[in-house]
Amino acid sequence: MDARTSVYCDYNATAPLRDSARQAMLGAMAVDGNPSSIHANGRSARRTIEDARKTILMGLGAEDYRLVFTSGATEALAMVLRPTTKRAHDKADMALPYGRNSRLFVATTEHVAALDGHGFESPTKLAVDQSGVVDLAALDAHLDRASDDDALVCVHGANNETGVVQPIADIARRCREAGALFVSDLVQWIGREPIPDPLPDVMIISAHKLGGPAGVGALVYNPATVEFGPALIRGGGQEMGARAGTENRVGIAGFAAAVAEALGEQEAEANRVAGLRDSFELALKEAFPSAIVFGDGAHRLPNTSCFALEGRQASTTLMRLDLEGIALSSGSACSSGKVKASHVLAAMGADDLLANCALRLSLGYGTTESDIRRVIEALRR
Ligand code: PLP
Repeated sequence: MDARTSVYCDYNATAPLRDSARQAMLGAMAVDGNPSSIHANGRSARRTIEDARKTILMGLGAEDYRLVFTSGATEALAMVLRPTTKRAHDKADMALPYGRNSRLFVATTEHVAALDGHGFESPTKLAVDQSGVVDLAALDAHLDRASDDDALVCVHGANNETGVVQPIADIARRCREAGALFVSDLVQWIGREPIPDPLPDVMIISAHKLGGPAGVGALVYNPATVEFGPALIRGGGQEMGARAGTENRVGIAGFAAAVAEALGEQEAEANRVAGLRDSFELALKEAFPSAIVFGDGAHRLPNTSCFALEGRQASTTLMRLDLEGIALSSGSACSSGKVKASHVLAAMGADDLLANCALRLSLGYGTTESDIRRVIEALRR
C-alpha cells in the first residue's frame, strides 16, 4: 500500500494482502517446480494447486463442482460468456452444434467485464429498479419460453460500486425451472454474504478482493449442468484442458489461504463492518443532511457505502482525501485517463451531474472505528 495512505477504505477495488495469504505464497515459493513435471518438486507444486482447489470448493460448499484457475475474474467471465457454453445435457445429443446458446441476458449494472457480452452479438440487458435490484418480472418475461436451454443469464451477486445485493437464489431457481444457465459474478459477494443456496451453475471469483494476490481467480462450475466448448486459451492442456498455461501456483496458494480466512470470519466480520458502515452513514447525514446514499433501501453488502455530496465533484474530493492519506474511490469508472459517469448509477436513474459526485467507501478486515472518524472529519473539512 502507498506509504501515504493511512486510512484505506477501498476494499472493493482491492483488499490489502492478508498475512495468511502472504505466508502461503512464501511457502509455495520455497519449492521450484512446474506442476506438470513428474519429479518431487513438480509433485509438490501440483499438491499446492490441488489442495487449493479443494479448499476453495469446500469453502463454497461446492464439492460436486469443478474449479478452473484463471488470471482473475475478467478472464473467467470471458471464458464462460460465449455461445459455445451450453447445458451439459446437450452433450448427449451430438446432432446439436456448439453455438446453441443464442441468447445472453446481463444485468445493466454488471461489471464491464461481463456487460459487453463477449461473443454474443446483442446481449439483452436486464433492467434494475432505482435501488439497483434486477427486475425479476422482466427476467420472467424473457424466460417465458417452453424451453430456455439456449439462454445464459448473467447476474452478479453484489455490485462493486454500490454494494447492492441481487436476489441470486431466486434467479438460480428461475433459471433452473426455465432450463437456462445461470452465471454469477460473486467477486464482491464471497466473504461478505453467506454462501448462496442454491448455487448458481457458474460462479466467478477473484483473489484480490478477498485479501489474496491480484492476477488469480477462478471459474467454478457444475459439470452436471454446464458444458464448455473449445478452451479460450489453448496450449498445454492444463486445468483439465479448460485453460492452458503453466499454473500460477504461488498466487493460487495465496488465493486459497485468503478464501479460507475470509469465509471463516465472514459472519463476524459482516456484523462488525456493517456497524462501521452504518455509523459512517449516520455521521455523514448529520454532517451533510442532503447527502445521497445510493441503494439505501436495498439489501447491500455490509462493507459498502456509495454516496454523493451534491455539487461536489468526486474527483476533487478524492484528491483532497488522498492528500490527507485517505483512500476512497469514485463511483465513476476511470479508464485511459477519461472519467466516465458510472453506468451503474445511470441504470439506477442518477443523472451524470449527480453520478459525477459519487464516492465509494468500502471497508474490510483492517478497518477500525478511528478510520471512520478520520474519513468523516476529512469530509467535513
Ligand atoms: N467483477 C467484479 C464485480 C469486480 O468488482 C471486478 C474487479 O474489478 C471484476 C469482476 C474483475 O476482477 P479481476 O480484477 O479479477 O479481473
